[in-house]
Amino acid sequence: MKVVKFGGSSLANGPQLEKVINIMQADDQRQILVVSAPGKRQADDVKVTDLLIQYAVNPQSEILQKEIYNRYWEIANYFSLPVEKFSQIDAQIKKLALTTFANSADQLAAFKAHGEKLNAMLIALIFNHLGLPAIYADPKALGILVTGTADSAQVSEFTYQNIKRFPFDDEYLIVPGFYGYTADDQIATFARGGSDITGSIMARGLKAELYENFTDVSAIYAANPNIVAHPRAISQMSYKEMRELAYAGFQVFNDEAIIPAIQGNITINVKNTNDPSAPGTLIVPDTELSIKHKITGVANSNRFAAIYLHRYLLNKEVGFTLKILQILLKYNISYEHMPSGIDDLTIILDKSQIDEQVINLAMAEIQQAVKPDILEWYEDYAIIMVVGEGMRNQVGVLTDILNALSTRNIGVKMINQGASRIAVMLGVAQADVADAVAAIYTDCTN
Ligand code: ASP
Repeated sequence: MKVVKFGGSSLANGPQLEKVINIMQADDQRQILVVSAPGKRQADDVKVTDLLIQYAVNPQSEILQKEIYNRYWEIANYFSLPVEKFSQIDAQIKKLALTTFANSADQLAAFKAHGEKLNAMLIALIFNHLGLPAIYADPKALGILVTGTADSAQVSEFTYQNIKRFPFDDEYLIVPGFYGYTADDQIATFARGGSDITGSIMARGLKAELYENFTDVSAIYAANPNIVAHPRAISQMSYKEMRELAYAGFQVFNDEAIIPAIQGNITINVKNTNDPSAPGTLIVPDTELSIKHKITGVANSNRFAAIYLHRYLLNKEVGFTLKILQILLKYNISYEHMPSGIDDLTIILDKSQIDEQVINLAMAEIQQAVKPDILEWYEDYAIIMVVGEGMRNQVGVLTDILNALSTRNIGVKMINQGASRIAVMLGVAQADVADAVAAIYTDCTN
């Protein structure tokens, strides 16, 4: 059995859903269909999830209600679904506005999750209308239990036992991605792009032979195609490589979604709904990996910022880092990396979690607590992650990377190589990032 997940652009309208149905029918192992909410139909369109976020803020808005209705009705109508069958989708959109929630975080999560929920319900109706036996499987019935916050849920281990017990036969199972239920029966969503996580959870729970993840590109490429013209398609990579690359900017596959697949030893195949015969990219367990290139991919991201500290004899002071981390804890700031030198420390943070006021307060406390000679906040920070299992046993990879940059006069603000030795992280100025990625790709990936 294969678990097959389709992203928002694959489900944006009727013609796209038709491709999805054809893909499902082309292989009788494809039985579990995990869906996102309808995404953008064209570049300037709005995803249904974003419409629902607006609706959560303004539940009385009939314009938004109508807009959301129209998105689903456009799909239903393409397949000539009778309006009586569609009425349950309409009723759910209206019911959302009338429901009371314990707090605004729960309300927002429930509204957002309906993008996937209504899509899965509608797709099950369309399948049945076309004579394809299918059942809608809500995460509640499947037992997808989560902990954590309403907008950043973490799957609980009980989920996998629950999924195994879900009764079904040989019909298609249509599963909404992106959310689960808390112990108090509230909807909580995964982070944005989190339908990939549901696909991975279902694949592990059902011990699927393959998790196919359909999106709108024919493969994962070795560098951002907006920076490097025609980068190499990656035919195969390890879980670790995918995690490093996803984390540092490859948005094709959600970085958290790899974890359940790793735990279940499930191979993931990223494929294109608009080009289903292309082999796509396989993300495989280490035992199945064949290493063809020293460097698998070069990712870049602007979502990071850094706190830089300098003080002489930093290395001698016991508890210095602890004091700083206590301040970060107090302000609920998580950090991503902390490369350090004899007299310096850089703390790299995800910018999206902090606002200016919080960072100013935290910086002031750090200044008082550890009295650094230099304390700076770097907003102009871009991260480049050079990733490859093939780098582990190679001498001179770092030299090659740094040569590629220095010959083009690109300065490096920070460099960090993890103990796994399959990833090198570089910090550069945002203005240099495109040139730096192109330079590394051109000089080092062949
Ligand atoms: N619909 C959600 C989002 O836009 C989740 C997903 O598509 O995976 O983030």
